[in-house]
Amino acid sequence: MIPLCTPDLGPAERALLLEALDSTFVSSVGPFVERFEREFADFTGARQAVACASGTAALHLALRVCGVGRGDLVLVSDFTFIASATPILHQGAEPVFIDSEERTWNLDPQAVEDAFVRLDRSGHRPKAVIAVHVLGAPADFGPIQAICDRFGAVLIEDAAEALGATIGTAHVGTLGRIGCFSFNGNKVITTGGGGMCVTGDPALATAMKHLSTQAKLPGLAFVHDQVGYNYRLTNLAAALGLAQLGRLPEFLRRKHAIAERYRAALEPLGCRFQGVHDGARSSDWLASCLVAGDRDRILAQLTAAGIGGRPLWMPLSDQPCFLEDSRGGDGGKFGEERRFMRFGGEVAKRLSATGISLPSSTHLSVADQDHVITTLIHAMGQS
Ligand SMILES: *Cc1c(COP(=O)(O)O)cnc(C)c1O
Repeated sequence: MIPLCTPDLGPAERALLLEALDSTFVSSVGPFVERFEREFADFTGARQAVACASGTAALHLALRVCGVGRGDLVLVSDFTFIASATPILHQGAEPVFIDSEERTWNLDPQAVEDAFVRLDRSGHRPKAVIAVHVLGAPADFGPIQAICDRFGAVLIEDAAEALGATIGTAHVGTLGRIGCFSFNGNKVITTGGGGMCVTGDPALATAMKHLSTQAKLPGLAFVHDQVGYNYRLTNLAAALGLAQLGRLPEFLRRKHAIAERYRAALEPLGCRFQGVHDGARSSDWLASCLVAGDRDRILAQLTAAGIGGRPLWMPLSDQPCFLEDSRGGDGGKFGEERRFMRFGGEVAKRLSATGISLPSSTHLSVADQDHVITTLIHAMGQS
């Protein structure tokens, strides 16, 4: 079995985890959380970093401290993992789904502008935009930021898949008001489960830290000035994260080499790989391409050969949980009516219908990668 993407753990992880364990500080107290935050900020060039329980929690904290609340509109990619959008709902706000550009599969700035202009005409001012750097490739940040500035919206980055990706010399996540990362088991680095918010605004960092720790005021008494969350990262998880962060440059080199190898072998055969803008660099989290032929049959053949390929996500606007009568739960019968607005959608639909993510673990061997490539070529020839 060749899995899609599994963690790369070694002696460094073992040593720091045992150090945390031996210290007996496994939970909310201990030095590793602060060290992880400081070194993460140093690596990305962010001013402040706040560790939390997951990438989803990071996005929720970001929306909350940016003032997104009940009834607000938030623009987000239609083509992304579900957790880019669910925190919008957790805040009582409404997602507005925006289509992708052909080349990078990320937010299409033209569709973002269309949405703002048309919503403005009907008296709506979206409060925020979540720009996802999908599969690790940087979104077209400059134009999207300019549109946000023009309409007074906050720009938040979902960099959950894009740790190490850059635009020019800047790391993604450090360009918007707040950038959010994930350390889930399959991401570029892992803490078992965890996340990070980075920001250039110390007041926002303080607010996120406070909310992530039950909004408890300093002192011995249990006094809470806001309704907060238990969203903190444990000292154990931070120890793991610190060890992984030390290996991140090596992980990124491996990811780039794997993606490059797939591209060289498969592009000449008609596979279309995700593009990046000039001057930008992807984290190459999951090498993905649009295949020539019947995607589902090709994927079935990969699965039968023990290869953990995955279809690209369905458009979020088609997710049952975002359709009108999905809440009845009567035997999986869902309505056709969308609960939320969508601008464009053709690109997301095509990506969803023809895309495959290929095994991209940093420890993927050359022999295993060759097996994936030959199996995929064979499957495309038959479909
Ligand atoms: C993984 C992921 C998240 C959520 O991160 P978790 O740590 O799993 O909560 C959010 N957005 C995107 C794009 C992701 O891939």
